[in-house]
Amino acid sequence: MGYFNYHTHTTYCDGKNTPEEIVLEAIRLGLDTIGFSGHSPAGGCGHYALKDVDAYYDCVSRLKDKYSDKIKILLGIERDIYAYDDNHDYDFVIGAFHNLLIDGKFFHTDRSPEVLKEGIDELCGGDGEAFAIRYYDFVKDVARITGCDIVAHIDLVTKFNGDFENKFFDVHSEAYLAAAREAIEENMKYCNLFEINSGAISRGWRKTPYPDSAILDIIHVAGGKVTFGADSHAKETLLLGFDQAEELAKKHGFGSLTRLKI
Ligand SMILES: [Zn+2]
Ligand SMILES: [Zn+2]
Repeated sequence: MGYFNYHTHTTYCDGKNTPEEIVLEAIRLGLDTIGFSGHSPAGGCGHYALKDVDAYYDCVSRLKDKYSDKIKILLGIERDIYAYDDNHDYDFVIGAFHNLLIDGKFFHTDRSPEVLKEGIDELCGGDGEAFAIRYYDFVKDVARITGCDIVAHIDLVTKFNGDFENKFFDVHSEAYLAAAREAIEENMKYCNLFEINSGAISRGWRKTPYPDSAILDIIHVAGGKVTFGADSHAKETLLLGFDQAEELAKKHGFGSLTRLKI
C-alpha cells in the first residue's frame, strides 16, 4: 500500500510549516495522498484553531490545482464538537473532542500532564478513571455533532497516561473500557472510521500510536474500520508511525488501513 496521511496541521493553525512546504515534503516522501485538517475555530480551542479559515481554504484549494499531477491533496478540517459553523465545503471532516466543558469551564485533556492533573483533581477529586469516563461521555457525540468522515484520536485522554504505565488511570479497567465501548458504539451510528493517530509520538509523550490495543479490539468487534492520521504539526512527522499503524491494523484484524473514497 502507498503512503498517505489525513491529519496535518500547518501555519494556518498551530503547525510549523506552510501547506506548500508540507505538500513538497509529502511528494518527496512518496505519499500519494495528503489531507489537510486545520483545527476548526471552536470553544476551548482558541489557542490552536485556524486564525483565518478563508485564507486556509483558498491556499489549500490553490495547491490542489498546482500539484494535481504529482499528489492528491484533500482539503479537510479537524472539527471539534464545539466548532463554530464556518460555511465551507470540505473534502473530508475529522471529528474531534479535546476539552470537557463543564459548568462553563474547559478542562483540557491534551495540553500538559499538569493541566490534566489539575482537571482530574478539580473535577473528580483526583480520580483519573472518573475523569476518563466523563471524557467518553462527551466523545460519544463526536460523529453525530461534527458529521465527520473520520473519528480522531478517540482515546486522546490517554495522551499523558504513558504507553503502559497507567499514570492517571488503568486503561484495562472494566469501567474505563465500558465507557470507551459505549462511546465507540454511539459514534458507529454515524461514522465507522476511526483514526490510528501518532501525534503523541512526535511530541514524545508516547511510543505507540493511539488507540490502545483494547480500544482497537472494541472497534474491531463493533464492526468499525481504521485509518491513519499522523496529527502532524511539522513536515518532519508527516509519516511518523505509519508503519506501526499498519501493523496495528493487521494485528487487530482490520486487514489494512482504510482510505477515504474521495
Ligand atoms: Zn485533535
Ligand atoms: Zn489534530
